[in-house]
Amino acid sequence: MQVIQSVGQMQQFSENMRTQGKKIAFVPTMGFLHEGHLSLIDYGRKNADVLIISVFVNPTQFGEGEDFQEYPRDLVRDCEIARKARVDVVFVPEVLEMYPKDFQTYVTVESLSQPLCGAFRPGHFRGVTTVVAKLFNIVKPHIAIFGKKDFQQWVIIRKMVKDLNLDIEVIGLPTVREHDGLAMSSRNSYLTKEERDSALSLYQSLNMAKDMVASGERNVSQIVCKIKDFILSKPYTKIEYVKICSPDTLEDMETLEDKALLAMAVKIGKTRLIDNTLLEVAKEKANATDHVKIQNP
Ligand code: AMP
Repeated sequence: MQVIQSVGQMQQFSENMRTQGKKIAFVPTMGFLHEGHLSLIDYGRKNADVLIISVFVNPTQFGEGEDFQEYPRDLVRDCEIARKARVDVVFVPEVLEMYPKDFQTYVTVESLSQPLCGAFRPGHFRGVTTVVAKLFNIVKPHIAIFGKKDFQQWVIIRKMVKDLNLDIEVIGLPTVREHDGLAMSSRNSYLTKEERDSALSLYQSLNMAKDMVASGERNVSQIVCKIKDFILSKPYTKIEYVKICSPDTLEDMETLEDKALLAMAVKIGKTRLIDNTLLEVAKEKANATDHVKIQNP
């Protein structure tokens, strides 16, 4: 496994692989790797000839007062995990090479970056799309793999790739969870034992919503209210948002349609966690109703 720091060397490596006809898979990360990252890495290993990951805590996606400085970093551990997972290259660029003093070009996906996390983290998705566009130009992947834990990010990256005609296949994979349901996240390392207990309320509330939908609830505000009450009943919790929206446009919904995204961001103490699930409304079973009518005229 190689660890590459320089942009030029990374581009050269990828160019060589492409010339040899090799298919390149890419997993961008901010490091402090966990099983969630490993699921993306495994997919890349199985679906390409060359697997590249990046470890880069990207300053432009952190707002003022956010945790850029505190974000957990352990490159030695990350490289060991990557080596065991048979990663070919760990790309670890320097902040100053990615963003030299005269840097002034940004990529913005306009509407999709506004709602949900975008409303609470101004500039966050501009930072994400800018760094991912840069990484795509440096790593030159054929496929890029993202987690649907960051559902909005995945939707935005897909849109950027489509709008800019980037010749890259974007894959989204399901959220990997701890044994008790907490979505894996590098930020979970911030949580105290008591905060972690409260953090479980995110996953539990997703299940609560699914149960409500299964028993016929279609009113979005009823579901959202119940979830908010439940989360706020736990200590240390402060809700940023709980929203039910279209999984494609991320626009709010009033009544559940066949597929909806339930997404939330909650602060547990100082730690901001996100989670989401798809709510699926079972199709009305017209035939089954007819059948009942025939049996009970
Ligand atoms: P991060 O290092 O947090 O920026 O995440 C890098 C990639 O891993 C992103 O595409 C995330 O969506 C994905 N990821 C993070 N946590 C998980 C998880 N629990 N399950 C699946 N993918 C994840």
